Amino acid sequence: MIKQYDFANILFAGPCNLHCPYCIGRQLNPALNKNNLNEFPLPNLDRFVALVRQHEVTEIVFTGTTTDPQLYRHEARLLAWLQNCLPPPDPLPSPPPLRGREQIRYSLHTNGQLALRKMEVFNQYDRVCISFPSFKADTYHKLMGSPRVPDLAEIVQQAQVPVKVSCVINEHNNGELNSFLDRCGVIGVKRVVLRQLYGDTRVWPLPHQLILRTVYRRNPVYDYYGLEVTFWRFDQTASTSINLFSDGTISDEYLLTRAGADY
Ligand code: SF4
Repeated sequence: MIKQYDFANILFAGPCNLHCPYCIGRQLNPALNKNNLNEFPLPNLDRFVALVRQHEVTEIVFTGTTTDPQLYRHEARLLAWLQNCLPPPDPLPSPPPLRGREQIRYSLHTNGQLALRKMEVFNQYDRVCISFPSFKADTYHKLMGSPRVPDLAEIVQQAQVPVKVSCVINEHNNGELNSFLDRCGVIGVKRVVLRQLYGDTRVWPLPHQLILRTVYRRNPVYDYYGLEVTFWRFDQTASTSINLFSDGTISDEYLLTRAGADY
C-alpha cells in the first residue's frame, strides 16, 4: 500500500530578510541549510517530483528553514514548472479518480515582507500563509527581529487567493491578542492560526470571546466574531510530509521537518 503524506515541502535556505530569535532552521544541521536561493533546478527536484507522483501527494508547500521562499530568485519559474508537470498528463482513470490525480494544490508559507512586490506570483499559488505576529512595530521587532511590519491590510486587499495568518504567541504579544484578532477581522482576514513556539510549555491565556467550534488534529478551532481561530500546539501535531531540503536531501523525518512547518 502506498504511504500517504499530508503534503510535500520544498525548503529554501539562505540569508533571510528577518531575524526571528526563535528561527528553528538555524538549529538544524548546517548541511541541510545550504543556500539554494539562486539554484534552478533545485538539487534532487526530479526525485522529489517522482515521490510526489508515487505517493499521490495533493499539496506542495514552498517554505523555508532559514529564509523566506519569496527570496528565491526562481520562485515564479519553479511554481510554473511544477504546475506544468504535475499532476501527470495521462488521462484520469474513470471512475473514480485516484487521490493524487486530482489537481495539486500549491501553498506559500512566507513572512510577507516581499508580498506586495511579488503579488503576481503570490496570486499564482492556491493559498498563502503569512507569518505575522503583531501590527505594532515594537512588538513585531521583538518577535521577527525587524520593525518593518508588512502592510497586511494591503496584502489581503490585493490577494486573489485565500490568505491565512500565522501568529506565534509568546510573552511579547500575548497581551495584544484581542486587538490583534479584531484588526485581522476588520481588514478581511478569515483565518488565523495562533501558534505555540516549538518546545514552549508555558500556558498563554486566550481571549475569552473565543467560542470552540471543532477540533482539528487535536488542536481547538474557535470562532471569534466570524474569524476562524485555530490554536496550534505544534508538539501535539502529527502531520506527515515529504521534504526536499536545500542540499537535495529528501526526508519524511518529523524532527527534520519541524522548522519548515514553523510558518
Ligand atoms: S523564522 Fe522564517 S522569517 Fe524568521 S528568520 Fe527564520 S526563516 Fe526568516
